[in-house]
Amino acid sequence: MRYISTRGAAPVLDFEHVTLAGLASDGGLYLPETWPSLGRDEIASLAGLSYVDTAVAVMAPFVGDALSREDLRGLCEAAYGRFHHAAVTPLVQLDARNWLLELFHGPTLAFKDVALQLLGLLFERFLSNRDTHLTVVGATSGDTGSAAIDALAGRAKVDIFMLHPHGRVSDVQRRQMTTVLAPNVHNIAIDGSFDDAQALVKAMFADRDFAGRFSLSAVNSINWARLMAQVVYYFYAAVRLGAPDRPVAFSVPTGNFGDVFAGYVAAKMGLPVAKLIVATNVNDILHRALSAGDYSVGGVTPTAAPSMDIQVSSNFERLLFDLHGRDGAALAGAMQGFESSRTMTLAQPMRDTAAALFASARIDPDSMALAMRSASETACMLIDPHTAIGLAAARGADLPAEVPVVTLATAHPAKFRDAVERATGQRPLLPARIAGLFEREERYDHLPADLAAIEAYVAERATPTR
Ligand SMILES: *Cc1c(COP(=O)(O)O)cnc(C)c1O
Repeated sequence: MRYISTRGAAPVLDFEHVTLAGLASDGGLYLPETWPSLGRDEIASLAGLSYVDTAVAVMAPFVGDALSREDLRGLCEAAYGRFHHAAVTPLVQLDARNWLLELFHGPTLAFKDVALQLLGLLFERFLSNRDTHLTVVGATSGDTGSAAIDALAGRAKVDIFMLHPHGRVSDVQRRQMTTVLAPNVHNIAIDGSFDDAQALVKAMFADRDFAGRFSLSAVNSINWARLMAQVVYYFYAAVRLGAPDRPVAFSVPTGNFGDVFAGYVAAKMGLPVAKLIVATNVNDILHRALSAGDYSVGGVTPTAAPSMDIQVSSNFERLLFDLHGRDGAALAGAMQGFESSRTMTLAQPMRDTAAALFASARIDPDSMALAMRSASETACMLIDPHTAIGLAAARGADLPAEVPVVTLATAHPAKFRDAVERATGQRPLLPARIAGLFEREERYDHLPADLAAIEAYVAERATPTR
């Protein structure tokens, strides 16, 4: 499989190189040159397969000859063997038509483990036959950092530097990062906001000399391999509900448009998806774009679903690429316009194309709390604030009565205990696998939000390539 950039001017890469690369050199994002397709019979033959077998069947066309099927299976077994449920991503029925796909049974209690556990192993595999040492840098508001650290801790030839805003992530989230004491894990609390942390990471990548010297790499959802790993659970869930004979809708709590884009890829591969519901909180740029063509950046309002408190959703560019007829030059022009004016209008034909598959909803804090309360009262289930936004959007969707709706449950309720308790009066218990979290030793350094200070810190600890 060959990978091309959404902006049409970066080298074409194979799977191995696209996994290690992150952002394309022309500022775009990598995508497969063509969408592989699974025929009806192939989809039907996924019925009854384990998660790992489904993963191998769905991902093999994207991996191409970068790994043998046995190697791919071995990595999937190792990645998904760390999940605390035999089904890996179990499907739970809520009522006659609504289902939850629980994606939070991994080591750090959020769906990001599904992709990052595999990505950590892919990094290690692809680095094992090179003399490069990778330096992963990232900024986190909580979930990405803990999932990436768990996935990379102790792996050969990789160091990870994770910046989080000092005092602005929850205790559980901070401890999930700072109690990992592997020597290749470096936690930095910076004075400032998440946006300040993010800006520092971007500035490190933009410092070409520094980025080259330390082979900087990213693990956020611009990385193609992460999205690929997420395509799997759309097939896994839909087949359990009757695909390919019965179309299924999905409601996806959305921030960076990564998870829901994986659903789009599943549909492009031939999975009969009745609708993809893009559920946002009050930070609603994606809802405005899809419902009114208005893709314009506003301010970020902090909410109880912090992983969705995002204005510019990087992966939306991948959908825009298809909506622009896969014309990289045209999209590069449109993105440059957007980057300078902070606004873009989607033309009517693009909106019509998107509307054939996507619906969207903006869920305010009251509807979110109501969804948490009603899941607790009617189904005796505690759900986290992100999942609640997905469920509220699912209940409001305009769909034929016979279509089952799967809401992606993206975080364990214990990860957001205070918000769940406020809405339902019940405090979720920490699962046994992280129960000792509050007794463990923490290690992190506290630095000013200053590029020179952060680069000096990294340079002292990372392995240079040249
Ligand atoms: C990251 C995250 C999301 C948003 O996912 P995207 O791929 O960025 O759209 C939703 N819920 C939770 C709990 C998350 O951690």
